[in-house]
Amino acid sequence: MPKSHTISSEIIHGEASRYSVLLPLPLAGPYDYLSRENRDIPLGSFVYVPLGAQTIIGVVWGESSKNFLDEKRLKCIESILDTPPLPESVRTFVDWVAEYNLCPPGSVLRMTMSAPKALQPPKPRIALIMNQDAPEIRMTPARQRVLSLLADGPPRTASDLANEAGVGSGVVRGLAEAKVLKRIQIPTSGLFPLPDPQIPGADLSPAQKAAANAIIEKVRKQSFEVFLLDGVTGSGKTEVYFEAIAETLRQGMQALVLLPEIALSTQWLNRFEERFGVLPAQWHSELSQANRKRIWRGIIDSKVNVVVGARSALFLPFDRIGLIVVDEEHEGSFKQTDGVAYNARDMAVVRARLEKCPAILATATPSLETFVNVGRSRYERLHLPERHRGAALPEVEVVDLRRDRPERQSWISPPLKLGLAANLAAEEQSLLFLNRRGYAPLTLCRSCGHRLQCPNCSAWLVEHRFASRLDCHHCGFTMRYPETCPECEAQGTMAACGPGVERLVEEVSVFLPEARIGLMTSDTIRGPGSAADLVSRVQNHEIDVLVGTQLVAKGHHFPLLTLVGIVDADLGLNGGDLRAAERTYQILHQVSGRAGRAERPGRVLLQTYQPEHPVMRALAEGDRDNFLSEEARLREAGVWPPFGRLAALILSGRAAEKVEATARSLARVAPNNPAIRVLGPAPAPLSIMRGRHRWRLLVKTTRSVNIQNILREWLAQVKIPSSVRLKVDIDPYSFL
Ligand SMILES: [Zn+2]
Ligand SMILES: [Zn+2]
Ligand SMILES: [Zn+2]
Repeated sequence: MPKSHTISSEIIHGEASRYSVLLPLPLAGPYDYLSRENRDIPLGSFVYVPLGAQTIIGVVWGESSKNFLDEKRLKCIESILDTPPLPESVRTFVDWVAEYNLCPPGSVLRMTMSAPKALQPPKPRIALIMNQDAPEIRMTPARQRVLSLLADGPPRTASDLANEAGVGSGVVRGLAEAKVLKRIQIPTSGLFPLPDPQIPGADLSPAQKAAANAIIEKVRKQSFEVFLLDGVTGSGKTEVYFEAIAETLRQGMQALVLLPEIALSTQWLNRFEERFGVLPAQWHSELSQANRKRIWRGIIDSKVNVVVGARSALFLPFDRIGLIVVDEEHEGSFKQTDGVAYNARDMAVVRARLEKCPAILATATPSLETFVNVGRSRYERLHLPERHRGAALPEVEVVDLRRDRPERQSWISPPLKLGLAANLAAEEQSLLFLNRRGYAPLTLCRSCGHRLQCPNCSAWLVEHRFASRLDCHHCGFTMRYPETCPECEAQGTMAACGPGVERLVEEVSVFLPEARIGLMTSDTIRGPGSAADLVSRVQNHEIDVLVGTQLVAKGHHFPLLTLVGIVDADLGLNGGDLRAAERTYQILHQVSGRAGRAERPGRVLLQTYQPEHPVMRALAEGDRDNFLSEEARLREAGVWPPFGRLAALILSGRAAEKVEATARSLARVAPNNPAIRVLGPAPAPLSIMRGRHRWRLLVKTTRSVNIQNILREWLAQVKIPSSVRLKVDIDPYSFL
């Protein structure tokens, strides 16, 4: 934007209309701008506006009331971008998310404008076609291949043409220069192959049919309804929601599927392609900038009609959304804590309500929130009872570690060792699950007791023996494994305490030396792409024992995997988190479901020191709903979510005293109301992270209290120093 234009636009000529424009920045609200256009600017339009010395893109959020701020001080909208306006339902959603999560609307808008380059006018694409009155030229086999390709096909870009014809780019260029081919401009979008709902789907069981029909009815009516699609792994939930997607497409609407990032597997994509003929548009962290831009633009142009993605896909600018699916709805990764804290599962339900369309929450282990909402008849439960292909559910055996003790410095009990050996002999595959990365969670000096701690966080460093280094999993700090104790300088006294997955790999390789072992953890597998290689090695039976963290629990189907060993079933129960039991149940249930999904029956050995714990009993007896009802009763008695509301206030800063003082001054003016309890202030369990000191307050209210209003009034009373950051986390999932 030329500078002179910006300056002159501050001078107002005659009557100008006034708009509020929301900028994708953490500001309290929209800013007012004037427009000298002699037409109305549609709400939602993307516009260039001056901000300080810069020009940035914002969205016209509303017509402004003219009662405050002198018009002479207002600047002008510089120009309107040639992008379709942000749909009204998306703008309402942005405001709703900001209001509920107590964050600036501009920060939420920023999440919807997740591909800023897509707002720029697209570069024209040049393609080649046959020139009708082409001159005679000398024909070569390579030239002939190019020409016959174009004779019965659409125009193609020079590089596509060269690739498909298997010729060098010079051949194509030569033909164009000789005027045998001519250049034309082709549209940039419209490059999305459309999923075809008419391809026949799988044969559905009666239960699947009933479930699909219930959802399809709401898709046709375009009315809001939340379905819990409840069925164990392999019960055919995906096939059911594929039918709902097919109906959405037939209605000319768009569908969105949210999946935890690590569950977006090649297998899922293959199933989609089988059902609909093409792959859906994907939205995840490994996406290139170019694809991000292409897909974002395709969505707002209504040219993309199915998107599968991680939680951030919820903020894409769909115009005609007709169905939202949240698969693995219980997954904690739908909760975002960095930046704007929000729960994508809950916000997906909100978006469905605003868009007047059905939402499907699919899972084998519903979250307690969802379970309770079914009990309150707010959600409709669709149950898929039996395994679709008739395989039996795995048998869960509890190994009491108090009786069946592993040997010293090892973690696999005698019964599990026997099971692994027998499975290897039978040429079947086994899975060892331990939700702990690295080799050991703690390294200490046997001589002086010094523990290796992160210099930036109050956390132990995790040894990664295969890479011979120590990592902090909170801040990314990393160091070489020390030869001597950093404290007493003794040599060779550093000792690993406790197991991580790498240590299990070592243990298995000692007692089953002939076994081929694979390791699956987020330290080695970073996204859907990098998981594919390991998954195919397991499928090709190049691996006998797969050792992994929660990454192994998701979305992969391994027909030969018949034994699952849960090494430390108690691990997630420690720490006193209100969802500890629920989460432990979910993850262990899901891991157990990896055993014996095809025709072979599976077996699960669950190692625990607490065989009488409700989680272990529920897993062994396969009695999920009893467990959830009991959990619900406990939460209700304590007025914990979903029977009460929670918000966490997290204060952090480099200066410990400042953080503490701010936390205390907040506590001093805490609301005085019998329906509200304020717990804290107290140093956070993770009291230092990335060099910042952290204090927490937890606000707990009954369900009838509007916790957002309470917080807004309360927080307005305290001036937070600029060196201290206050983060509000509504419905927190982490208490660290
Ligand atoms: Zn030492
Ligand atoms: Zn750290
Ligand atoms: Zn690590």
